[in-house]
Amino acid sequence: MIAARLHAYGRLPVVEEVPDPPAPQAGEVVVRVAGAGLCRTDLHVLDGVFADVLARMAPERAGDGDRVGRLRGFPGHPAFLRRPFGPGWALVGDAGYVKDPLTAHGITDALRDAELLARAAVDGSPAAFAGYEAQRDVLARPLLDVAERIAAYEWDLTDIEGLLRAESAAMRPEVAVVRGFDEPMRAPAAA
Ligand SMILES: Cc1cc2nc3c(=O)[nH]c(=O)nc-3n(C[C@H](O)[C@H](O)[C@H](O)COP(=O)(O)OP(=O)(O)OC[C@H]3O[C@@H](n4cnc5c(N)ncnc54)[C@H](O)[C@@H]3O)c2cc1C
Repeated sequence: MIAARLHAYGRLPVVEEVPDPPAPQAGEVVVRVAGAGLCRTDLHVLDGVFADVLARMAPERAGDGDRVGRLRGFPGHPAFLRRPFGPGWALVGDAGYVKDPLTAHGITDALRDAELLARAAVDGSPAAFAGYEAQRDVLARPLLDVAERIAAYEWDLTDIEGLLRAESAAMRPEVAVVRGFDEPMRAPAAA
């Protein structure tokens, strides 16, 4: 099969032959992408390298899209966190907060919240749900703050380097938590 691979930071991706991946094992899935939306940050590469990559990797898809409506812009929205649970309901991912999508991190957030909430639900105690909210907030807040500053576009090339490093640093505690998900969840002892 062919793949677009990025071999070094700052270089363009290279389309090349790679071995076929092994058949999925138990607990793995193959995700076939039927379509994708483009973020504003992607638009500047649409006509450049991605056009070439798409033409070589999926020629049947390249150029087969038609604009069927007007382009809709997203003017931005101040970030905020919602209380993510109450009697009989709970929120994960985008439902629980507003954060500018330019961090390209919302899917991780949604999966992280789903796992944290599932663990709280298995425990079932009010303290466990409060713990879900507290941990979600501790992990999400720094990323919300830095995303807000990046999304404001009030930076120059020197500022943005620091902001992107801050964004990366804000993700580190979450990486540690997500790695801990490998530990099996313990069901509460039977009453
Ligand atoms: C332009 C753009 C680019 C992005 N790029 C990236 C990226 O590169 N990487 C990344 O990680 N994230 C990206 N994100 C963010 C990411 O898409 C979201 O954070 C993520 O999809 C949130 O997942 P979710 O499950 O919380 O919510 P959603 O994906 O919105 O799922 C919620 C689902 O619930 C359904 N629903 C709503 N109400 C009801 C109801 N009453 N009954 C039944 N169903 C209902 C909705 O139809 C929807 O399917 C981007 C977002 C945008 C807008």
